[in-house]
Parts: sequence; structure tokens; C-alpha cells
Amino acid sequence: MKTSIIGYPRVGALRELKFASEKYFKGVLPVEELQQTAAQLRSAHWKLQQENGVDFIPSNDFSFYDGLLDTACLLGIIPQRYQALGLSPLETYFAMARGYQGDKGDVKALAMKKWFNTNYHYMVPEIDDATSIRLTGSKLFDEFTEAKQLGIATKPVLIGPFTLLKLARFTGLKNAKNFVPAVIEAYTAILNQLNTLGAAWLQLDEPALVTDLTAEDIALFTELYKGILSAKGSVKVALQTYFGDVRDCYQALQALPFDGIGIDFVEGKQSLDLVRKHGFASDKVLFAGVINGKNIWKNQYKQTIALVREIGKHASQVVLGTSCSLLHVPYTIKHEKKLPEANKQYLAFAEEKLRELAELKSILEQASPEASALYTENEKLFSASRLTNDNSVQKRVAELTEADFTRLPDFAEREAIQKAKFNLPPLPTTTIGSFPQTADVRANRAAFKKGNITEEQYKQFNFDRIAECIAQQEKIGIDVLVHGEYERNDMVEYFGECLDGFIFTENAWVQSYGTRCVKPPVVWGDISRSKPITVEYSAFAKSRTNKLVKGMLTGPVTILNWSFPREDISLKESALQIGLAIRDEVLDLEANGIEIIQIDEAALREKLPLRHSDWQSEYLSWAIPAFRLVHSGVKPETQIHTHMCYSQFSDIIRDIDAMDADVITFEASRSDLAIIDAINECGFRTEVGPGVYDIHSPRIPSVDELKQGLNRMLDKIEVSKLWVNPDCGLKTRGVTETWASLENLVQAAKEVRATL
Ligand code: GLN
Ligand code: ZN
Repeated sequence: MKTSIIGYPRVGALRELKFASEKYFKGVLPVEELQQTAAQLRSAHWKLQQENGVDFIPSNDFSFYDGLLDTACLLGIIPQRYQALGLSPLETYFAMARGYQGDKGDVKALAMKKWFNTNYHYMVPEIDDATSIRLTGSKLFDEFTEAKQLGIATKPVLIGPFTLLKLARFTGLKNAKNFVPAVIEAYTAILNQLNTLGAAWLQLDEPALVTDLTAEDIALFTELYKGILSAKGSVKVALQTYFGDVRDCYQALQALPFDGIGIDFVEGKQSLDLVRKHGFASDKVLFAGVINGKNIWKNQYKQTIALVREIGKHASQVVLGTSCSLLHVPYTIKHEKKLPEANKQYLAFAEEKLRELAELKSILEQASPEASALYTENEKLFSASRLTNDNSVQKRVAELTEADFTRLPDFAEREAIQKAKFNLPPLPTTTIGSFPQTADVRANRAAFKKGNITEEQYKQFNFDRIAECIAQQEKIGIDVLVHGEYERNDMVEYFGECLDGFIFTENAWVQSYGTRCVKPPVVWGDISRSKPITVEYSAFAKSRTNKLVKGMLTGPVTILNWSFPREDISLKESALQIGLAIRDEVLDLEANGIEIIQIDEAALREKLPLRHSDWQSEYLSWAIPAFRLVHSGVKPETQIHTHMCYSQFSDIIRDIDAMDADVITFEASRSDLAIIDAINECGFRTEVGPGVYDIHSPRIPSVDELKQGLNRMLDKIEVSKLWVNPDCGLKTRGVTETWASLENLVQAAKEVRATL
């Protein structure tokens, strides 16, 4: 029995690469030291895997920013505007990743997108008609050689040609097909060079194969690999898939001369059935993803061993591995000093998963695996209660009926009641919630956490901030005010900390993009709310003004999507539990006189299944009701807002309308406003506030451009339905630009109103 790792995290257990990179970006760390940090991390990761007996240790899974960007650079896919800067290769790479503004020029970064169904983001390769795809880089070979010099024979890994072409953006007239010969030649050149270097295997990652494929896709894939594999020499090629099953191309894969195929048995619902039904070619190695590479729970050996035995009936050469790269889990529980053992014993991060693979291998090599100490110890853990149950919460969920998911009266009637009551001007102005989290705001929170100031002092600071923020919003003439969210570290962590059932880590960071890492809370048990969370601050804000104040909450789907979920109950069950807790908060806000409540579902789209056919059955059928559960209990005159961070929701627009909020605000300023057309065409009922300016940039939009934006929206959206707001929260912005932008926004709304 052998073991394999698809990829390892790279930012460092203590985020060493993040800190080194950020210093380098600021110009205070020489490039040699950045390279040194990177080399130390690579070496540490290889050695760790070696110590744990991993047979297939990856190289080139390291990245300074993103693996797809590395692949693009390896193949010379570098748009002219970056080449024209005349920078060093590494500087050019960072210019593509982060944009460049300096004496050599001014270019924006490449577009960034979510990597399949994860919270990791990749840089979108850009291919124009003049792009010449060919092997120009050496990172793949350099890192293989670097490991070899350390005495470690690695398996180089690279994103495969199909996924590369599927995710790339073609900006000219040519499309993927036009580049097939060049891509085949480039990957062939890679294989040749690996041959010379003495690599035994090359792993090509093709996660795009787990999405819905057309006949044309399969033809493209087949053409690419027929070409590449015909010249592969002595290097063996493993095709690696993850994040789902390959139901659309299983047989096509079997028919091609791959030496190995990696299949995800954790997220791939049909993987086992496919293997059972069609068998697995005896001349190929099956890299079986049996340990969850995306979640942080310990593996239950009993189940995994049963799975491996079943797979073994159909495949002659099985290698054990993780379901996907370990990039999506934190490094190690070793650095968790505060978490009780009672929790820790159930957790396995990347390093612990290496241990698990080694243990599974050793158990499976024994004559009677079930008798081994490692097995019985693991089984003991899983047969004991994890003490996660809260019967009253489970009872509440079990007793929910259709009525709990239905807000009455219906939308049109509520809209009329609310318009009469609030008497807002047309094109009412508002913001998304947070105001700049300046250094003193963060310092106040940190001082309280450390115990350096009292709770009273901590709160007083926030109250003062809220009072200022309310006064300023009133002064510049915003219609619906917010308290500013000064008390929140993060929109999910804040609620997690205030609810029962979550646990938190100190160092369990996961890369989101580039140097940005997130530390998701862990859903440990049944979720409940023991006391009001936001009422005090919202009520205080309201007491400072006669204007309307909007309460601000995070919705259940977003809380769940940005946490590590439980595996012992369904996502639906967890979402309903969180939904009930937030529902209680909504009702408390209402009881305390808050007339407008925004429930953010920033990440609603994030866990949308990769296959269209699963959207309703696996996800939307519970995610949308979970949101409705939160607000269905309010009075007709209480106005419910929601907010989403994506402009891409044309394809789920009816589901979004079915959330039955009264108003939705969303990002639109950077998109081509296609969403506005979709809203117009589908008879969207919910009132909308498409963001009129981009908060991700410090630029101050002029009154004229804001007016233009509003007028364009008014071409498609009835004036009675349109709100005016920025496209997201303002917490990452500077104070001066924030108020200047908002003043212009209010002015633009006034001037457009005057023309109505
Ligand atoms: N209310 C949150 C804020 O303004 C929403 C953040 C988000 O959509 N990501 O910060
Ligand atoms: Zn947002």
C-alpha cells in the first residue's frame, strides 16, 4: 500500500510566506530573503511528508501567489501589458497578481476568481490572439531539482491543459481550440524535460473534469491528452481530479493511456458507483482520495477501510490519498494552545492528515487490520459521544413547519405598507453596514481581548464611534443609517463568537488568495443563541437620530459557508439551527424598535454545487428556506434587506427573489450590469440597490459618473424599486475617501431625483 499527497499548504504554519511577501511588497525585504523563506518552507514541507512515509510527495505545489498563475507563467501566458513593464520575472509575476503602479508603468492585476467550490481564489490567465503558448519558465523543474538535492524524489504537479484552457479568458477572436497544438507541444516539452531530470511521475490536475461537461469538452480533453500522452517517454502521468466525481468522462479517461488517475471519493458522490460499474483499468494506478482534504475532522478509519476494500475489488493498484490538495485546510493543531483536548482530539489539519495516511497504510498492511491498536483507538473515539447535542435546538428544528418559512403578507402588500410608513424619497440612499475599521478601532478591540481595558471602556469607545458615525451620516444626508460595525472583527467570526456551538482556533489559517488568509470558525455542536447579540449597539445608534437606522446581521448560509462545517449532521440541519438563532436576534431587534434589518448573505453563492443538476436538490432547496426562516416572523412594516457580494447571480435570480427580502443590495459597479438586464427580464419583485461605486478601490467617484450609473440603472429598473448605495461594506477603506465618496453619492441621488 502506498500513499500520495496532491498538494500541501504553502503560506507556512505561522504564515511566514505571507509576512515575508508583504514585507517584500513594501520594499523592506530583499528578494533574496523572500526566496530564502520560500525555500525553507518547501524544504520543511517535503521533509514532513517524508517523515510521514508519503510515497508520492508533490513538488511545484508551492506558489508565491497562485498555482494557475504559476502555470500561465511557465507556459508564457503573460499579457503584453505586463511584459512591457520590463520587470524581472518575479516582479512581472507579482504585477500580474497584484497590479503594478510605479516608475515603469501602471497596470491592474489579472482578474481573480473563486477556485471551484472553495474559498480559494485563482488568477484568471488571459490569452489573446498574439499569445504564444510554449514552455518558457522553469519553476516546475527548479523545485523538482531543489527537492532532489535534499534527497527527496518528488512528483512534480501542474495544472493540466484542459483546466487551464477552461479557466482562461480569451480576449481576442481565437478560442481554446486554436491553442490545442501549442498546448500539446508545451506539455510535451515539459514531459521531455522531466524525463531528462529523471522524474518518475508527473501529476496533472484537472478539477474542471468534475463539472458538467459537454461532448465538445470531452472532445477537447481527449484531443489534448492524445497528443500529450503519445510522447510521454518514461515519465508516468497521473491525471488528478478533485472536488467531485468524473461521471461525464469516466470511460474516456479509462481509454486514454494515463498511468494513474486520481479520483475523489469524499466529494465525488458517484465515484464509487463509477468504479463499480465500469471497473478500473488494471494497467493504471488508482489514486484514491479517501481522506477529506477540505475539512478539519479526524478520519474515521472504520469507514475509510471499508471504502478502500470496496475500491480494491475493482482496481488492482490503489494508492491512498487525500480528496484534494491540503491547501484548503490549516497547517497543524500543534499551534493551538487554548483549545481543550476534548475538542482537539477530533481535529486533523494538514500535518495530522499526513499522520492519518501513514496510520491507514500501516493498519491496512496488517493481517487483521481491525485488531490493530491504531484502529481500535480510532474506533473508540468515534463510538464515544462528542457531546455536541442540544436537545432543545434539535426539537425546535424538528418542529418547524411550512409556516415558519413563509413571511406574510405577501411581498406586494408589504411593499405598499412600508412605502407608506417610511415615506422615503425616491432613490433612497444607504450603505452596506461597516465603516472604516481604522487602527484605533482595531486597537480598542485588541486591548479588550488582552484584558488591558474594561468591558465598559471597550464599549464606550464603540458607542462614541457610533455616535460620530451616525452624526456624520445624518449630516451628509443619507436616508437609512447604519451603526458602522465597529465591534466586529469579521462578519462571521463575530456572530460565531456570540453563538453557542462554535469553537475557535488561534492559528488555523487557510489561504484565500495571495497573502490573504482566513481563519474560519468551526461548527462544533448544535447552535443556539443565549442572549441578544447586536441589540445594544443598534438601539444606541437609533437613539442618536430621528432617521431610520438599519440593524445589521449575517445570515445563516454565509455563517455556515465561511466556517468548517460538521460532518455528523447535514449542512441543511446546521443552517436551520443557525437560522433559528439569527431569527431570535431579528425579533429582538424588531422588539427594540429597529424598523429595518439587513441580513447579509455575502457568501450565498459560494457553495453552489459545481454541477447544475445538483443546484436545487443539494443546495438551494435548503439554503433559500434557511434565509426565509430568519425573517418570516417579523411584522409587515419591518423592512428586511439582504446583501450579496457577487454581481453574478443572473443564473439564480429567481432563487434570490424567493428569499423574499424586501430589498437586496449587491456588487454591480465592476460588472457589465448584465445583472440589471436579468432583473429587468425576470420580473424581479425585490427592491434592488446595485452598488453604484466600487469600494475595493480608494478612488472617489465623481458626482457625474455616479449620476450616469444611476441613469443607466433607471433605464432598466423602475424608479420605485431602486436604492442607491456603494457595492459593499466600507471597513477596508480610508476615512477621507469614504466620506467624500458618500457625499458624492448623496449629491448624485439628489440630482437624479430632481429630474424624475
Ligand atoms: N455588512 C457587512 C459590511 O458592511 C457586509 C460585508 C460583506 O458583504 N462582505 O462589512
Ligand atoms: Zn459585500
